[in-house]
Amino acid sequence: MSRTGELIRKYDFTFRKKFGQNFLTDPSIVEKIVDASGAGPDDTVLEIGPGAGAMTVELAKRAKKVVAVEIDSALEPILRETLSDYDNTTVIFSDVMKLTDEELLAAIGEGAVVVANLPYYITTPIIMRLLEGQLKLKSITVMVQKEVADRMQAQAGTKEYGALSPAVQYRAEPVRVMTVGPECFIPRPAVDSSVIRLDLYDRPKVEVKDEKLMFALIRAAFNQRRKTLPNAITGSSELSFTREQISAALNKMGLDERIRGEVLDIEQYARLADTLSDKTAIT
Ligand code: SAM
Repeated sequence: MSRTGELIRKYDFTFRKKFGQNFLTDPSIVEKIVDASGAGPDDTVLEIGPGAGAMTVELAKRAKKVVAVEIDSALEPILRETLSDYDNTTVIFSDVMKLTDEELLAAIGEGAVVVANLPYYITTPIIMRLLEGQLKLKSITVMVQKEVADRMQAQAGTKEYGALSPAVQYRAEPVRVMTVGPECFIPRPAVDSSVIRLDLYDRPKVEVKDEKLMFALIRAAFNQRRKTLPNAITGSSELSFTREQISAALNKMGLDERIRGEVLDIEQYARLADTLSDKTAIT
């Protein structure tokens, strides 16, 4: 039985599906994730969701400091045992999404490395937050559902392309490290997982005058992805462009008015936002 399995049994821990609890049991996978993250002796690591601490221990051996944020305080006795030999670790029992940027920055400082086997129910909001730039991170290496990793890497016009694709590709190059089957976890998830490293650019990949507007356009396009782009944008409660304004912008870019948002890449979203940003738009 794996060390994680032993601890689960010893402490009679009950997995909570609502927290996306699928713990890694294979030490070689943990090692590969930590290797891929590049975390070293000068780094502070932010781990989201340490679970029973399998990855936390490996990170603590290599990094200067590990700050782990865990929502489930029922894991406290297990983490106390697993981390007892590592005084460079701190566990904050909280929902990571409820911690403010200021609170997180106070705990990890600037230039931290994120390493996490993310809870699947909340992957996208966490990734979006990590990419926003407020936490001034050095790198992000995460385990996600394979299909989410596919989406991060997808090119415009493919069926995997979603709102997450241009959002990730704006700030980072997603590099797939490996794909892992359900047998490497307890309990077993229903799907394959992938480890993906987001190599952050020093500056976003494309220049855009109004980043907020660009992201609102991306959200509008993918919220109603079956609609044409003018229909999706006019249907958005976040935006108040007229159909004429959108048609004029698309014409100016040499694009057909019947186009759907799923065929525009990040460069085109930036151009669309720039073309529209002269008009008053965000409500
Ligand atoms: N890192 C461990 C591993 O690899 O074995 C556990 C990974 S498990 C997929 C996700 C972990 O995130 C669980 O421990 C879960 O309780 C925790 N978690 C879920 N939602 C969270 C949230 N909003 N904030 C912090 N931790 C969360």
